[in-house]
Amino acid sequence: MNKRILVLPGDGIGPEVMTVATAVLQAIAVRFGHNFIVTQGLIGAAALAVTGEPLPKQTIAQCQQIEAVLLGAVGDPHYEHNAVSLRPEQGLLGLRQHLGVYANIRPVQVWPQLQAASSLKTAVIEGVNFIFFRELLAGLYFGKPRGRSSDGETAVDTMRYSKAEVRRIVRLAFQAAQQRSKKLCSVDKANVLECSRLWREVVIEQAKQWPDVAVTHMYVDNAAMQIIRQPKQFDVIVTENMFGDILSDEAAQVAGSLGLLASASLGDRIALYEPVHGSAPDIAGHNRANPIGAIVSVALMLEYSFGLKAETAAIHTALSQTLTAGWRTADLATALTPPDHVLDTSVFGQKLIQYI
Ligand code: NAD
Repeated sequence: MNKRILVLPGDGIGPEVMTVATAVLQAIAVRFGHNFIVTQGLIGAAALAVTGEPLPKQTIAQCQQIEAVLLGAVGDPHYEHNAVSLRPEQGLLGLRQHLGVYANIRPVQVWPQLQAASSLKTAVIEGVNFIFFRELLAGLYFGKPRGRSSDGETAVDTMRYSKAEVRRIVRLAFQAAQQRSKKLCSVDKANVLECSRLWREVVIEQAKQWPDVAVTHMYVDNAAMQIIRQPKQFDVIVTENMFGDILSDEAAQVAGSLGLLASASLGDRIALYEPVHGSAPDIAGHNRANPIGAIVSVALMLEYSFGLKAETAAIHTALSQTLTAGWRTADLATALTPPDHVLDTSVFGQKLIQYI
């Protein structure tokens, strides 16, 4: 199979984890006889430094000629006082908008080998396996008006949803629930927010088309607590943009580290794959980042965009073997991890590639 992929390493630990992710992709190409043509592009602070824009026209043009985008992370404290349009994060929001990727899918899985890395007791997390469907193109991150009053004393952000925007993500979540354990939990704040009441109305309307899926509605504050209290109760969670952003970071720590989670952002055309974490400026440049979220993002790309099931399984198997052999990155190490089993980002990647 011939496929063209745009890799946007971005900022901070983005380039470090993307170097490993692309090496894993090439190892899969060699083992299975594929030709993955990878081109690199600029986004975020890396793009601002070169072009003055967080999402350069050149990057948009590169998206015309490829079949999937793999992204590291964006964000740099150096630009945190920039105007909104000139912040690195704006590059990522703009790219998601340009690609029309409205469904952000974030699987949460507790690897048996990593139970000790979680902040929670083993009995609570054993066998946890659920998936977020986060709406990605509307809500507070995009609604207008937004900004400051002229005297700087007042700020406004707008949460806005149309029924059509809710319906398309809710339908995908129902489809997934039907193929999994037929349980869907919709998370909102319908006791306070009008957007959430609209959200809930659409979920109830759509539920009629999936009578075999059991639907529950949960307020976001309760959901935040339930994810810690009893994560095994969840299978598919569907929620709006900001709630999904926050809850999935929380869920990452149920699994053991923010560095573990991957995501697929789907729309009607080219999909975008990226780890859930940010640019982690506190560890950037030290080759300490956990590349698993980026590696699993490659697996999601092979599965969702290219339909390559054996190749996807090969990545998961190699990852499982690497963990069973006891290899860890610093964020996953516990008091019982032998120091010589705590590896750099790149060495962890090399171990995993040996298994592929
Ligand atoms: P972050 O996700 O970058 O880091 C949060 C904490 O998790 C840090 O202590 C970090 O060291 C740790 N961490 C994150 N990824 C890790 C990994 N792979 N391995 C080991 N540890 C890891 O979030 P933050 O510190 O709140 O934000 C930093 C910057 O990233 C900000 O500019 C923010 O806007 C941006 N950000 C970008 C994205 C994205 O690109 N999708 C997502 C979230 C935040």
